[in-house]
Amino acid sequence: MKKEYDIIIAGGGLSGLTAAILFSKDFNVLCIDPDAYPRHKMCGEYLSNEVIGFLKSLEIDLDRESSVDLENLKFTLAGHRSIECPLPQGGKGISRYHLDHLLYQKAIKNADFLQDKVIDAVFEKGSFQVNTTSQNLQCKQFIMATGKRSLLDKKLDREFIQQKSPWLAVKMHYKYDMSDRLVELHNFDGGYAGISKVENGYVNLCYLASYDSFKKHKNVTDFNEEVLSKNEFLNSFFKEAVPAWEQPITISQISFEKKEPVENNILMLGDTAGLIHPLCGNGMAMAIHSAKIAFEELHPFLRNDLSREQALKNYANRWKKTFRKRLKIGRILQGILLNKTYTSWGLWFLRKFPFLLSTTIKGTHGKPI
Ligand SMILES: Cc1cc2nc3c(=O)[nH]c(=O)nc-3n(C[C@H](O)[C@H](O)[C@H](O)COP(=O)(O)OP(=O)(O)OC[C@H]3O[C@@H](n4cnc5c(N)ncnc54)[C@H](O)[C@@H]3O)c2cc1C
Repeated sequence: MKKEYDIIIAGGGLSGLTAAILFSKDFNVLCIDPDAYPRHKMCGEYLSNEVIGFLKSLEIDLDRESSVDLENLKFTLAGHRSIECPLPQGGKGISRYHLDHLLYQKAIKNADFLQDKVIDAVFEKGSFQVNTTSQNLQCKQFIMATGKRSLLDKKLDREFIQQKSPWLAVKMHYKYDMSDRLVELHNFDGGYAGISKVENGYVNLCYLASYDSFKKHKNVTDFNEEVLSKNEFLNSFFKEAVPAWEQPITISQISFEKKEPVENNILMLGDTAGLIHPLCGNGMAMAIHSAKIAFEELHPFLRNDLSREQALKNYANRWKKTFRKRLKIGRILQGILLNKTYTSWGLWFLRKFPFLLSTTIKGTHGKPI
């Protein structure tokens, strides 16, 4: 392994791996992640069709990998009837276990990969000193794609890390009979759960819950029984569904605070630049799209045709223009969904004017890239 690279990427999730595939066509790239592939990851596993064509251009053909084409959304609230509408763009049901592995296999064709953790990155005299737990490395440009929250955010003293992060998430695969065209979104006290199929026929249940609502219960099993099951749709799901794993995956301290796409000359990708509320089902597409924008905007700098300052400025402006509105709509939607009064009024209203649900969802997505 070399010690000097054009690009070092911390994080080998969707955004980091997409960036590794793109940049390694023309430059020396190292991607660093502590985990081996394939691995399960927290996610609702609904990938918006926004990026399916782009992934195809990278020779990752998801139509061959998954026949789960999610076209409709069913939304429920405890004690109410459900409402169903078409998903404006639709998406693929594909597990992160499979999707990240596909990207990883493609990335390592041209990029180097190191299984390690980046612990520090310092910009000095026009280049970056990047330290992992085992290596001291150098690069022309450092990219952070470390997801929702990492050690590095703390080390860099990023502003969002000072704020409270009162959310946790739980994910589990089940054997369960349901349509492979449908995404279900079920509201419960303090959160919401998404249910949909993935490529191997399993059904993914993934939910976000406020820490305040979770902490009154002993564990995930109790929380599922005492809170989620109050929604009759979730109650019948838990009665029929058979867990495919011994334990669910859980994460805590999820923050939806605003972040910046460039800090300390470091370019931020995916969730590292901003996390959209999961109910929008657009975080994965945004992560992949942000890597494409980064590649296009940094390319002239890496070829020495543009200054670093201007290239990073161009990236930050384009990132904000592309994603800020979606993040804002996501924040408003989540506020409504977690307020019982708003949600039951909203559901009544949407049943009268069902097209409004599709229109709102459209606002959290972009055009296909
Ligand atoms: C509950 C929940 C449900 C969701 N459901 C959906 C959905 O259905 N559809 C959708 O589109 N989006 C969904 N999302 C959002 C989506 O999962 C993220 O937006 C997406 O994973 C972002 O990709 P990323 O590359 O930014 O980060 P990630 O995929 O999280 O990758 C970050 C990587 O960085 C690595 N890393 C961390 N620290 C370091 C370090 N110090 N050094 C090196 N590597 C490091 C990690 O190991 C990880 O592999 C959901 C999110 C949540 C919380």
